[in-house]
Parts: sequence; structure tokens; C-alpha cells
Amino acid sequence: MKVLIIGVDGATWDVLDQSVLENCMPTLQKLKQTGSSGILESTIPPLTPAAWTTCITGCRPHIHGVVDFKKYSFQDNSVKLVDTTDVQVPTLWHYLDQQGYSFACLNVPFTYPPFPLEKGIMVSGFGCPGTTAEFTSPPDFKSEIFSHIPDYSVGLGQERYPKRKYGLGNDEITFRTTMGILIRRLNQRLELAQFVQTDHPVEVMMVQFQPLDLLQHLCWPYMDPRTRNRYRWQRDQIFEFYRQLDHVIQQLVSMVNLAEGLVIVASDHGFGPLNFSIFVNQYLQRWGYVKRANPWSRLVRRTRRNIIKRTRSSGQKMSLQRKYPVNWSKTKAIAVRCPGYGAIYLNVKDRQPHGSIQPGKEYIDTIQDLKHRFQGLVNPHSGEKVFDRLATPGELWGNQEKYCEAYGDLLLLPKEGYDYHTSLKKRSHFIATLRDGPFRASIHYPQGMYVINGKDIKREYQTPAHIADLVPTLYSWLKISIPAECDGVPLLDVFEENPHCVQQKTQRFPSSYTSKDQNTPKIHEGKEALIGQLQNLGYLE
Ligand SMILES: [Zn+2]
Repeated sequence: MKVLIIGVDGATWDVLDQSVLENCMPTLQKLKQTGSSGILESTIPPLTPAAWTTCITGCRPHIHGVVDFKKYSFQDNSVKLVDTTDVQVPTLWHYLDQQGYSFACLNVPFTYPPFPLEKGIMVSGFGCPGTTAEFTSPPDFKSEIFSHIPDYSVGLGQERYPKRKYGLGNDEITFRTTMGILIRRLNQRLELAQFVQTDHPVEVMMVQFQPLDLLQHLCWPYMDPRTRNRYRWQRDQIFEFYRQLDHVIQQLVSMVNLAEGLVIVASDHGFGPLNFSIFVNQYLQRWGYVKRANPWSRLVRRTRRNIIKRTRSSGQKMSLQRKYPVNWSKTKAIAVRCPGYGAIYLNVKDRQPHGSIQPGKEYIDTIQDLKHRFQGLVNPHSGEKVFDRLATPGELWGNQEKYCEAYGDLLLLPKEGYDYHTSLKKRSHFIATLRDGPFRASIHYPQGMYVINGKDIKREYQTPAHIADLVPTLYSWLKISIPAECDGVPLLDVFEENPHCVQQKTQRFPSSYTSKDQNTPKIHEGKEALIGQLQNLGYLE
């Protein structure tokens, strides 16, 4: 194998610190010492679908089109779960396909349905409805997987993990059982990679591992270097998990001759403590931007929603008219998606079905007023400003109209230690402190990690990078031109000598590169269960 990319969801040097590397992860430690490494800046927002799609396209989310777990539509004021039909640019795999490389993309999140490619193998990861779906390309590769790995599961599998807000707890049996499942998930990916390499040798392989992200959500106090030594047996279990992860990395790396090849280990985002939750729509309601529906229509909405919930067979569109108890013709702005950032949508005439704001002056004035109000919010628990930075997509990327459907008309940019909610349920406080709760929660931080090691790569070198930079760096290493769609830049200073790399305008890929038609009902099968799992894991409200 020439190139191996190992994706470790949620990995950060803040957790995989020197002590963990020395005690539990000798392979990662060695790769770092004998290669180049650094902090890998994640996407806005630092969420798994956005960041891995950036990793495999070399484009930031406003270009590739996958911003978070769900995608909002102006046309019918609805959201739907993202999948590969939402990816607007060719991926690394399309490019390698075109260039004639053999490759395997194994378990990368939100690669369902797999892209229909000429050559190569794709096995969807986290975000795929499960093993009953057509999660491989070519489709008959699925039966090969089960003949080699009868218990193979996609992503995190179908297990019901503990809820994020309670964590994994202190029950040793539950703890050990969950660890056993997650370690098995690591080994399933290794076994998959090993049989691919034996039966269908490829030049470029990417393998992704999801369990570390879940563990950091569920076990933050036992993993945070500031607190882990207080919880001896839990910490030791986690350390055992790191050893298993390192063993898997070591086995994968052994497939590459580092004197000739290239290994990249990268994460999609980092992690850190979650201190405060902000209920954004409560503020919008107080300021008169969200108008509640009257009690009678709220009852009708709830009844209708429950019937639809029972009868809906697919995870297709979810109308916000049903989700929020809101009078849409009087509502002017609402936060629609708030996982790691706040996405505020204005309700604009002729853009959304019950638009109430006039485009032009009223639109601009509303954004200014909202900015002013949000900027003035102070956290009563800490005395600090709640929002450091607010921006419109136009201010961030130069085109408001083009990017506001994906990102919202106004973005409350992520602030470390904060998360944002859209709930309109009555509550006395709009900012909840989580610092003193029974379970110390965590959230994605933008600082992920990467290591690059192999032929022509500097040893013991450190430099920060952006996750969009990895794919252009790989193209440079392969000495192939960088497609015009990439907005990441190659990390030239990790090379011992400047490689041949030309930012070359390539031909636009034909539109047929995208996956099957979005209207194919088959790709929605099982998405209800997936939505349930994502909600349980805390990724969706
Ligand atoms: Zn992630």
C-alpha cells in the first residue's frame, strides 16, 4: 500500500497527551517523533459530518455543502438528515478514481450512500442506517464483508449506549460491557482493512474509527488529564482502550513501507469541557422575534406530529411547522440548528412558505438588531460575554445569498465550552451552567490533531494545519495536480524538499459523480432508527 489515512474521530493532543502516548500509544508516539505533526483546525462548526466531508474533499463546508447532521430547506421550511447526495464537490475518491488509483474508503462517516465509482471500494461509516442498507460500493462487497467478519457493524453499530447527559456512570459491569463493544468496533475496522489488503490490494486506503468520540462524550472526567487520576479504575479501563487503539494503528501502519509510502493519522475535531448551555430561541422569543402559536394550534400540531411520527417510514424531510410550536406568519427569526454553533434563520417573504420579513432593508435591519442584542448578552454565571463572534455567511465567505440556506442568515460562532439549543420549552434560565452538575459533560472543540509520516516527510517537525489541507497535501505528495475545487492548501513545509505541486484548474467533474438520486426511497430506509440513535447520542435535538 502506498498511502494510508487513519481517521480517529475526536482525537486531540489535549487528551492524547505525552503521558498517554508514553504509557499506552507507542505507535502513535513513534509516528509523531519520526514525522510531522500538529494541531488540526476543524471546520465551522466542528461537527463530524462537516469535518470528515472536508477531510475527503479538501473544501470547507460552505463549498462542499454538508454543514451539520441536518440540512435546512427554505422551500418547505424543513430539515433532513444529510447524506452523500448533499456533497457538492468531487471527493478525494472521485479524483483518485479519475487518476487510475486503486483505493478503499472504509468506515468514513457520512459516506452513505456510497458514491458510485468506477474502481475502488467504499464502505459507509457512522451516519449510515445500518447493515441492512446498501452500505458498500460495489454492492456485492457487502456479502464479502460478512463472510469474513460475520458480526460486522457500521459506525457505532445498533447498540443503545448510555445517554450523553448522564455519561457512562460508575457501574463497573456497564462500563466494561461498553468498553468491550467499542474495542470490538476498533477490531472490526482492522479486520476489514486487513482482508481488503489481502483480497483486493489497494494503493490508497482510508480507515476511520468512531469510538473515541463517543467515549469522550460519555467519560470526559475519566479522560480529561486534569481529572482522570481521581478515577483510578475508570482511567485504567480508558488506558486499556488507548492501548487497543494503538495496537490497531500499529497493525494498519505495518501494511505500509514508510521508506516508500505515506501515513496520515488525523481527527475531525478536538474535545474539551462543556460549561454552559444557551437556549437561543428563548432569547428570540423574549425579544419578539419568535411568536408562539396559540394553545389550540399547538395541540393540533402535537397531535399531527405524533400521528406522522407513527406512520412515517423514512427519515426524509421533517417540517419545522410541526417541530416548533410557533406562529410562522408572525415569527421573524428562529434558531433552527444549534449543535456546536447557532444557526439563525430569518423568516423571509417569498423565500420560506410563511415568510414575514421583507427582503432588503427589513432583512438588513433585523440582522443588525439581532447582532447587537446577542453581542450584549453576558453570562450571569461567569460574567463573560456569551458570544465572542457573530457573523453572516456574507461576511465570512463573501456571498450571503449563496450560503445562507446551509448556514443560516446569522451565525453564532462556536465558543469553547458552550453549546446551543433550540428548545422553546418554558424555562426560568436561558443559560444553564453545567460546571457543577452530577456529570462533567464535554463538547467538540475546534483543535483536532494530525500526524504525517513517510517518504520525504520531515522528522520531529510541528506545524498547525487545517483539516481542508490534508487532501491537497496528499495530492502534492502523489505529485498530481490539485483540483480547482479545493480551497485547502498543501502543507509544503512538512516536506523535506518542496514537492511538485501545481494548483491547476481541472475540468469540472460531470454531475453524475454524486450518489444515487435523493428521491430514491431506498436510501431513506432505516433513517428513522438512525435519527433515534443520533438523538440518543446527543447529536440531534
Ligand atoms: Zn467527530
